[in-house]
Amino acid sequence: MSSLRFKAVEEAFKKKAIVVTPPSKFTSDYYGKSVFNRATMAKYLSKDTLKELKNVIDKGATLNLTIANDVAAGMRMWAMDLGATHYTHWFQPLTDGTAEKHDSFIDYVGAPGETVIEDFSGKLLAQQEPDASSFPSGGIRSTFEARGYTAWDPSSPAFVVDDTLVIPTIFISYTGESLDLKAPLLKALSAVDKAATAVCQMFDPSVKKVLSFLGWEQEYFLVDEGLYATRPDLVLTGRTLLGHESAKNQQLDDHYFGSVPSRVAAYMKDIEFEAYKYGIPAKTRHNEVAPNQFELAPIFGECNLSVDQNLLMMSIMKKVARRHGFRLLLHEKPFAGINGSGKHNNWSLGTDTGVGLFTPGKTPEENLQFVTFLVNTLMAVYKHNALLKASIMTAQNAHRLGANEAPPAIVSAFIGTQLTAILDKLENSTSEEAIVVSAKKKLSLGIAHIPEVFLDNTDRNRTSPFAFTGNRFEFRAVGSSANCSSAMATLNAAVAAQLTEFKSEVDAKIAAGSTKEKAIFDVIKSYIKASKAIRFDGNGYSEEWKLEAAERGLDCETSVPKIIKAYTSKSSIELFKSTGVLSAVELHARNEVKWETYNKKIQIESRVLGDLAINHIIPIATRYQSFLLENVYKIKAVYSVEKAEKLGKLDSALIEEIAEHISVIKINVDAMVEARKVANKIDSEYEKALSYHDDVLPYFDIIRYHADKLEMIVDDEMWTLPKYRELLFIR
Ligand code: ADP
Ligand code: MG
Repeated sequence: MSSLRFKAVEEAFKKKAIVVTPPSKFTSDYYGKSVFNRATMAKYLSKDTLKELKNVIDKGATLNLTIANDVAAGMRMWAMDLGATHYTHWFQPLTDGTAEKHDSFIDYVGAPGETVIEDFSGKLLAQQEPDASSFPSGGIRSTFEARGYTAWDPSSPAFVVDDTLVIPTIFISYTGESLDLKAPLLKALSAVDKAATAVCQMFDPSVKKVLSFLGWEQEYFLVDEGLYATRPDLVLTGRTLLGHESAKNQQLDDHYFGSVPSRVAAYMKDIEFEAYKYGIPAKTRHNEVAPNQFELAPIFGECNLSVDQNLLMMSIMKKVARRHGFRLLLHEKPFAGINGSGKHNNWSLGTDTGVGLFTPGKTPEENLQFVTFLVNTLMAVYKHNALLKASIMTAQNAHRLGANEAPPAIVSAFIGTQLTAILDKLENSTSEEAIVVSAKKKLSLGIAHIPEVFLDNTDRNRTSPFAFTGNRFEFRAVGSSANCSSAMATLNAAVAAQLTEFKSEVDAKIAAGSTKEKAIFDVIKSYIKASKAIRFDGNGYSEEWKLEAAERGLDCETSVPKIIKAYTSKSSIELFKSTGVLSAVELHARNEVKWETYNKKIQIESRVLGDLAINHIIPIATRYQSFLLENVYKIKAVYSVEKAEKLGKLDSALIEEIAEHISVIKINVDAMVEARKVANKIDSEYEKALSYHDDVLPYFDIIRYHADKLEMIVDDEMWTLPKYRELLFIR
């Protein structure tokens, strides 16, 4: 009866790894071949144009039309050499993923209708109006009656995918409001550059620029394509809404870091070859904790580029999965009862002089600088912990956070025992004690020799959402399907504002007669005290932590719509305004989009769940029930009354049990539909989101509980939906 499921299982078992061969023996031979990088630019652009373009990229100089025309011509030649016939402006709307609209290079030459040539002007490279009016803008575009424009981001190189030249762009309204995720990120990066450079110059006047770095770790699940196709919930929502946990899942830890299954190994190689073509420095690949869960991590890079590379990588991974008979699941929680997927964002700041600002230094000055950046970051995370949580929160990620796995729905920071000891020492010493000016006039804070080796091996706290890991912070709460821009724009903006405040406090003290060292020390000391509540080295999963965090005044909200509201709190609006990242109008508009997206996601899930329950689960259970009834009936016909009662006991009990589950499911699906109707009538997206969260979502667990019970009762032969053991262990 459930032939589709069994057929899919059978087919999946038969699949073998496909053979993949690298484009060339050495990775360096083809690395970055599909990217218009500096080496390629040098081949396709004139010396003068290249020089001007480098000024635009590195120094933010404005692009004039002549240069734009030259760059566009070179870019087109290069792209056509790789087989491109089309071009597109690639942008990052407020919804998931990326957007693009392809145009051909062709244009009439001479009278319309005669001959065409390939053409691509500087104007087309620099700016487009993709219409794209169906993308959510939170009312900005209708209010301002503004058109949406995409504008080239020269700091992220163009690339060729299949037959198309892809140009990374920002997406803004005619009146300048950001309609995407990239524009605010670029603004935040520039804010942190400015603020951090000013602070660095207190230590080293030769620093001219500070870069923000990102190294993402992409977790994902692979599911056999045939099995995937028979699960409407996976197809429509990216996660399983039903399914009893498998007898074996991750409890033996035998998948984690285990040998990679051969079909998956071929897939991993394939995505790496692709990554290298696009200059994505894929470095690490391994099995993750849950069965059929894996991870890919590149070497870190400049934040804006790294974000774009992650978006490109996600789309490559999706595409290549099909070649291997898999479907890629980037959902944060595709399966209940086992780990979900995150995307740890390894973040750091570094100077143009090559100094990592979170890398403990070799000299006392460097260590004072290190402590300055460390403590300011802790302060920023402390002040904006609610906002940082909002920056990673979505309907999907909510299943991962706060559940019994990293990280909890509370943002705290872990710095390890050694750094804690150093901060404690600083906190408890007077500036006179701490600052010892030696004969060589060198500053010592008792932190002169932070042993680097030890720091690199800090006792890693896997339960912390924001952990210091030797030379960087790891923001672990980011979801696997997320665009890192959101988290990175928020974190960089928060640190930028904090560093600016720090600088002005230090300057004020110096103006009042303090020495520079004492001023820095005094401000740091006050920050260590003030931000103490954010530091937590214990078990972030524990119930006690939730209570303690609340006592410490950290944000413990778990309702997604309310968490999102942190974006428009007084302190967030001030933060984004002072750093020039987003205006209050933009923030309000963005929240509208977030709530709307949340509502749509829950609405779709609720519909799919209702459909599965009523049209799949109940009919199957009823069929099995009637099979049992028939059996009881036959027993009665064959045996004496007493014997029949005995023999039919088990069946009768099951029949009643099934009836009970069916009835609970039916009642709750009906109630859920009613709750949805009520929610849908609400005009305000926020109020609607509250209603979806408070009144619709709770039915999911009840319905699932009973459907999963039925899965354990009903004859396996009859069950149509592939089970967890099949989805998770066939590869
Ligand atoms: P783990 O799983 O142990 O956390 P991985 O090797 O999987 O580590 O990933 C760590 C990521 O952090 C990589 O992308 C790596 O390049 C990146 N990384 C290392 N140093 C820095 C740094 N200073 N700034 C930002 N990212 C970094
Ligand atoms: Mg990792």
